[in-house]
Amino acid sequence: MSLEQLTFPPVSPAPDLQPLRFEVRRFLREQLGDEPIEHRPFTYLGRHDPAFSAALGARGWVGMSLPRRYGGREASVLERYTVFEELLAARAPMGAHAVADRQSGPLIDRIGTDRQKALVLPGIAAGTCYFCIGMSEPDSGSDLASVRTRATRVNGGWHVNGSKIWTSSAHRSHYMILLCRTSPPGADRHAGLSQFLVDMRTPGVECRPLRNIAGENDFNEVVFTDAFIPDDMLLGNEGDGWGQVTSELALERSGPERFLSGLGLMQALVRQRRHLEPTDRPAIAIGRMMAHLHTLRRMSLSVAGMLQQARDPVLQAAIVKDLGTVFEQETAEILRLVHAAEPECASENDYTRALAETMLRAPSCTIRGGTKEVLRGIIARSIGLR
Ligand SMILES: Cc1cc2nc3c(=O)[nH]c(=O)nc-3n(C[C@H](O)[C@H](O)[C@H](O)COP(=O)(O)OP(=O)(O)OC[C@H]3O[C@@H](n4cnc5c(N)ncnc54)[C@H](O)[C@@H]3O)c2cc1C
Repeated sequence: MSLEQLTFPPVSPAPDLQPLRFEVRRFLREQLGDEPIEHRPFTYLGRHDPAFSAALGARGWVGMSLPRRYGGREASVLERYTVFEELLAARAPMGAHAVADRQSGPLIDRIGTDRQKALVLPGIAAGTCYFCIGMSEPDSGSDLASVRTRATRVNGGWHVNGSKIWTSSAHRSHYMILLCRTSPPGADRHAGLSQFLVDMRTPGVECRPLRNIAGENDFNEVVFTDAFIPDDMLLGNEGDGWGQVTSELALERSGPERFLSGLGLMQALVRQRRHLEPTDRPAIAIGRMMAHLHTLRRMSLSVAGMLQQARDPVLQAAIVKDLGTVFEQETAEILRLVHAAEPECASENDYTRALAETMLRAPSCTIRGGTKEVLRGIIARSIGLR
């Protein structure tokens, strides 16, 4: 694609989606009560709250795109976008169901067998079946084709050996979608990779907790030692793992979760500084952040519109992820600069504490889901610069 062909066609959520938006807001007020926004989780993966996920599922707002026969509502991309945007803006605790909702459910619906769909999709749509992503390894993060975890054929299935790392919520998930080697790399290093649906209770699958910089255990190392995976848990075709994982990453990269995590704190700041003059420095900073946010939202909606038309906006999604996550980091820094106190995790002030958490989490925004350097490589290649 040439630079001239790169477009973000404008998309506005249809007015008939407004009632849905208001319904979600009402639901969130009932569920979250008047818990201050500063107390709510920083990232959408942040708090594991099974009761909230099940209540959301009961309203039909998890796995929305899935077929009705599996409990979904065959919702359009923009319907799901509307619900998701409201959940993010409210900093709702989506950690339990988020991965299954965003990528595992749609992937299994697309390439899974009828048995696999019947096994997991109803639970995903109910908000009660949780997934984790088994891609990264100790020596393979950006370069996924170099994964060394290996599945070897045995009678009736496969034995898996190796280890995954940074696996978010693995210790609280029912299933992992595992990327591993099923045959050695040949001339084409993308060949010989496959995906499996792994029940996390399988003997030989061990979760070892890792602590993040904020002292929490939200990701893990997952070690496989002769873990037996039955044949019928192969996801898609043997050897097609690379193509499958690439399409899964497109789902992971294109959403508003890549730029909305600072919104709650921005709103709190605006509330605190209601009486500013437009020329005051914090007001100028707020104005800049809002202008960027508005632009990112338009670009992200455009990607959603392209997905709805079954187009393949890999380039546009990479641009939104890159700009969005850099914006999240800049927002954290701007909020720090205009705040009167230093961010402090032990502060009694809710805003100061939330700001400290935001600062600690901000570096990970441009790593998870693909680093900014890797995304810029994709962008450069897509527009013919490399
Ligand atoms: C909070 C968090 C949650 C995560 N959750 C999961 C999860 O649930 N499941 C999962 O599988 N993974 C998860 N990850 C892992 C994440 O996807 C990887 O960390 C990421 O892909 C980078 O891989 P790496 O850490 O191995 O770094 P590396 O790939 O070793 O990269 C190191 C540095 O080199 C740069 N680099 C690498 N290749 C290139 C290149 N070709 N060109 C230019 N620069 C390059 C990178 O940008 C980076 O700055 C998570 C990470 C974080 C931070």
